[in-house]
Amino acid sequence: MTTLRILIWFAIAAAAMLAAVWLAERPGTLTAEWQGWRLDTSVGVVAIAIVVLILLGVAAWLLWRWISGAPGALLEGWGDSRRRRGYRELTQGLAAVAAGDGAEAQKHARKAEQLLAEPALTLLLSAQAAQLTGDRDGARRAFDAMLKDQQMAFLGLRGLIGQSLRDGDQMTALGYAERAFALRPQTPWVVHSLFDMQAQAGHWKAAQDTLDAGMRRKVVTADKGRALKALLEVERSREAEHAGRASDALALAREAFGLAPERIAVTSRLAELQIKAGDAKRAMKTLERGWAVAPHPDLAELYLRASGESDPLKRVGIVRRLAAGNPDDIESHLALAKASLDAGLWGEARRQLETAGGTSPPVRICRLMAEVEERANAGQAKVHEWLARAATAPADRSWSCTACGAHHETWRSVCESCSAFGTLQWRAPGTYGQILPPEARPAIAAGLSPP
Ligand SMILES: [Zn+2]
Repeated sequence: MTTLRILIWFAIAAAAMLAAVWLAERPGTLTAEWQGWRLDTSVGVVAIAIVVLILLGVAAWLLWRWISGAPGALLEGWGDSRRRRGYRELTQGLAAVAAGDGAEAQKHARKAEQLLAEPALTLLLSAQAAQLTGDRDGARRAFDAMLKDQQMAFLGLRGLIGQSLRDGDQMTALGYAERAFALRPQTPWVVHSLFDMQAQAGHWKAAQDTLDAGMRRKVVTADKGRALKALLEVERSREAEHAGRASDALALAREAFGLAPERIAVTSRLAELQIKAGDAKRAMKTLERGWAVAPHPDLAELYLRASGESDPLKRVGIVRRLAAGNPDDIESHLALAKASLDAGLWGEARRQLETAGGTSPPVRICRLMAEVEERANAGQAKVHEWLARAATAPADRSWSCTACGAHHETWRSVCESCSAFGTLQWRAPGTYGQILPPEARPAIAAGLSPP
């Protein structure tokens, strides 16, 4: 392009020089007469006059173009600076939100709103600023307004879910979560939150549908989905039993056990129903299978109940049969120790507890040891020694939530402290994986504002 332009200029310059030479070689005069005026001049002067006139014309045209275009350019520049100021306010507002200064954020949000014609961006800032200053209505208005913008609707819903949960309005939150799920069913927090909310509301079938959708989209792993499905069936089985549909209840419990026999709640649900149905033999088989993968004192109790045995010595033999499926687990030793204690077999009880406790027996073992020594009349000194050890012994296994770490007396499907479904596990603290702090939960109780 540039080379072509230079060539053209060369051609024009060469043509001008040739023209000048041609004119110089052919001198002559021009005479013009008009209304009594007479002009005598040379051809060279006329040529120069024509060139000057053309140059003046071009200059006048450029000047006109510049003048007529100026207002637009000026306005454009002004708009640019307005937008720049707007973005600066927006940035400062977001920085104030990050720093937790709600009042400052609100000030910048108002300015950004005036300067920028981008309601979506400024609404988000306004909502966050309102949340920080505790202005619930303001935040709700901003989130509501975001629902009208296709791009921002999802973010608005997230804000509204968090807001409703903080207000303790679970059902409204559930409604917003359903809308968020319809918009983006592949977003993990949406799937997890909707699932937990549906489970918390006791909408087991709806929770099941959400879980299935989550598994199809690989938001929930197959392994986790299987266990959660089993626990949902445990709840549905309870529901069916309360409604007087005993055979449905049993069918659901059986299906759940087929899916996740490693869940204690699943094993005990099926065994309970089998005992109620008068099928003690089958209940004992269920408990043996469950004990082999996940033993728990409740299962031992159910096993003894199913056996119908009341003779203490024979009960030791029955527990031994159950314990044989998982002989090294602390629960097996504990169950045997308890049965032996009831049968007055102090030596056997002591032996089981010593094996189970090892070098640092947990609280349960120390207390049972104290009881054994007390009932065996081994002397108060020994009893006191064990009770003192219990005070500083390592913590026992208990029902603790894998999501928030809260402890519960009995198993329940929904954690009372963090509302997560299916997170209660029978374990000693710090032994089975890591206990996540509450803020690490995917739950959106925190919404858009920092927790
Ligand atoms: Zn929890």
